[in-house]
Amino acid sequence: MAFNGTAPYAVTDLYAGTDFTSLNWLERQWVAWYIWIGNPVVATGLASFLLHEIVYFGRSIPWIIIDAMPYFRRWKLQPNKVPTPEEQWACTKQVLFSHFTIELPLIWLFHPTAEALGMKTYHVPFPHWTVMLPQIFLFFCFEDFFHFVAHQALHTGVLYKHIHKIHHKYSAPFGLAAEYAHPAEVFILGAGTILGPLIYCYFTQNLHIIAVYIWIVLRLFQAIDAHSGYDFPWSLHNFVPFWSGAEHHDFHHMAFTNNFSTSFRWWDRIFGTDDKYRAYRAKVKAMKNASKEERDAFEKKLMAEVEAEGIKAEAEAEARGVLGGSKVKTQ
Ligand SMILES: [Zn+2]
Ligand SMILES: [Zn+2]
Repeated sequence: MAFNGTAPYAVTDLYAGTDFTSLNWLERQWVAWYIWIGNPVVATGLASFLLHEIVYFGRSIPWIIIDAMPYFRRWKLQPNKVPTPEEQWACTKQVLFSHFTIELPLIWLFHPTAEALGMKTYHVPFPHWTVMLPQIFLFFCFEDFFHFVAHQALHTGVLYKHIHKIHHKYSAPFGLAAEYAHPAEVFILGAGTILGPLIYCYFTQNLHIIAVYIWIVLRLFQAIDAHSGYDFPWSLHNFVPFWSGAEHHDFHHMAFTNNFSTSFRWWDRIFGTDDKYRAYRAKVKAMKNASKEERDAFEKKLMAEVEAEGIKAEAEAEARGVLGGSKVKTQ
């Protein structure tokens, strides 16, 4: 299909025979976007990039505000480690750099790849939500397992030393740090988010990009919230026990080990890669009848122990497969 980039051509070619009166508000905006840009490759690429930027930084802003308010410290998982504005700014610059140098050049491939696999892009109307819901759940499951395996691989030898170590710069993460990672890691772990929809589409020939966008928005919320460093009484894992959330992933950063999956707790539970985490939680729970001061002091001591073990484990991970010794983390 050839596109000459002019709006009238796009209207007649892309939307010939479409009954615009039956479309809902969002579908009409969708049509207007593709007509306005006039080139589906550019329209899909630009929409994907903007969606990512707006959701990533939009979702991070509330966490920046929460970090600036001492009132919320009572729900901080590692209350002694609140990120400074300088740290948050340095992290933002790094994330923006990788978005503009890696993601932006690659994103123009998204539309041609999606089209080649039979994904609907500019098409309207959108599928019914009952069609999209199971698709999105499947993408969650695929990504979670992919991440569980790939993340563990990134914790070994050269892969850790040269790639994943960057993401572990923050032993107490914060929302903006969700995508603070080596470009190779963004590529490897990002594949878990994109491959699910592409494989699904290839086999079913029944996927609209709007379902992929909803999935990506939810995945961004999941990743940012998991790095937020806060566990509230209303956090999702309190109502959905297999949901990971910050309470699960914060431990991964603090202890350097355990809890390798993203959204769900089941793979870490089945494979026993949550043993240290569960022992830690059990010890904290056993103190629940003690006074607040005693509990705080105990948790502080426990966290220091876990972190010291983590520094040792990190040095060992780096040394594995790297003959000639290791470097102990100083930060
Ligand atoms: Zn890790
Ligand atoms: Zn992380």
